[in-house]
Amino acid sequence: MGLLGTKHSRRAMLTGTAASAMAWAIVAKARAGETYAPSVSGPFNFEVQKTEAEWRDQLNDLEYQVLREGATEFPTTSPYWNTNDPGMYHCKGCDLPLYTSEWYSPQQIGFVFFNHSDPNAVLTGIHQTDYNGALPEPKMMMEAHCRRCGGHLGHILIIEGEVLHCINGTALDLKPADA
Ligand SMILES: [Zn+2]
Repeated sequence: MGLLGTKHSRRAMLTGTAASAMAWAIVAKARAGETYAPSVSGPFNFEVQKTEAEWRDQLNDLEYQVLREGATEFPTTSPYWNTNDPGMYHCKGCDLPLYTSEWYSPQQIGFVFFNHSDPNAVLTGIHQTDYNGALPEPKMMMEAHCRRCGGHLGHILIIEGEVLHCINGTALDLKPADA
């Protein structure tokens, strides 16, 4: 599920509380290849909660896999990876404004990068991924997910010393600035 807030993660690392046990349970699940399941009924109550059937009804297959199962799209899947028109990138799950085009950071990696999210829009968690086999071994990553619906957006990485949000364009909907 990978949806522990930053505070929880820090505390877990420091004190080894139940939150820590939970985090490791999540990792174990991911290793076993089980479904990534955002915790809509667990310790963090997201403002927007829907049943799996409702999510499947709203999202197409790829959007569902990325937002609800923590999948990573294949590089260059989304046109946003190398185009950035003025506007605001919203969450495909709940329409929360997440990233402004002003924070867009062009990278030749095939995903959508931003230097920052909008304030109070993105939470972090722990998530294990191998980026569709791009990494030799699955790795623990800092996950970025929507503050309102818990949808998995991507990860927060350090690339050449720069902190960047590496986001699946599939999870985003760019609304033009003049709309
Ligand atoms: Zn959302």
